[in-house]
Amino acid sequence: MTADAPTGAAPHPSDRIDTSVAHPARRYNYWLGGKDNFQADRDSGDAMAAAFPTVRTAALENRRFLQRAVAHLAREAGVRQFLDIGTGIPTANNTHDVAQAVTPQARVVYVDNDPIVLAHARALLTSSAEGATAYIDADLRDPEKILHHPELRRTLDLEQPVALMLVAILHFVTETEDPYGVVGRLLAALPPGSYLAASHATYDYLPPAVAEEARAGNRNGTPPGMINLRSRDEFARFFDGLDLVAPGIVSVAQWRAEAEPQPRPTVDEVSVYGAVARKP
Ligand code: SAH
Repeated sequence: MTADAPTGAAPHPSDRIDTSVAHPARRYNYWLGGKDNFQADRDSGDAMAAAFPTVRTAALENRRFLQRAVAHLAREAGVRQFLDIGTGIPTANNTHDVAQAVTPQARVVYVDNDPIVLAHARALLTSSAEGATAYIDADLRDPEKILHHPELRRTLDLEQPVALMLVAILHFVTETEDPYGVVGRLLAALPPGSYLAASHATYDYLPPAVAEEARAGNRNGTPPGMINLRSRDEFARFFDGLDLVAPGIVSVAQWRAEAEPQPRPTVDEVSVYGAVARKP
């Protein structure tokens, strides 16, 4: 458990927190109405909101998708284990809260590479007595470090199905960082009957000129912390070889959202795809 481990020579997470540049976890926290953000995050969040005014709706809908996906996986699919990479700053109804409300035995490993999330990790370690949670300070782009981490091995049984949660994180992995290979290596380590739940911001609903700019940005290398938007087809490639759960790839606002308050935001207001699929 990284947050409570003796610090030894390792720097305290707060020493690694740079408040002068915007960080995705803190900017997302700002859009969600949280308090764990700094001026640089708010400025970056406001700049994105100027370009895409419904970004707060998109963030809230993404978070609701995460919660409905976990509830579905725990209740309907009977999943007992979750590997949630790109955890974000803890808020209400985190993955283990939702999963353990359905199944107290649920076991959850959280992974993020932002020291601010590490600094808040204690809030993620409030497991039910029957289940377990762990936090790993690691990077999605290094799947082997995650898969071989002693905390993961202690918490999850990789002989049993695991739901891999990659919610609003894949758009921080650029083309040159091999996003499809990274996801493939993670899924290869999980047994049949495992799941992938993912969401991804898209340029499909942006005006053509803005979309073209985003596409050019991706080709030329997205700066760290900026969002690498992808098309529906590019998102669908992450699910190659898996069986999509109904309703397939849709806006996160529409994914099994029948019980959500109506009317739902429109697909272009949200501009984030979501899907859940099973490894055969
Ligand atoms: N999954 C949560 C939070 C999304 S915010 C939700 O959907 O509500 C995106 C998170 O991904 C941030 O916390 C950010 O720090 C983390 N992240 C971005 N790139 C990462 C990487 N390469 N490795 C690990 N975490 C990353």
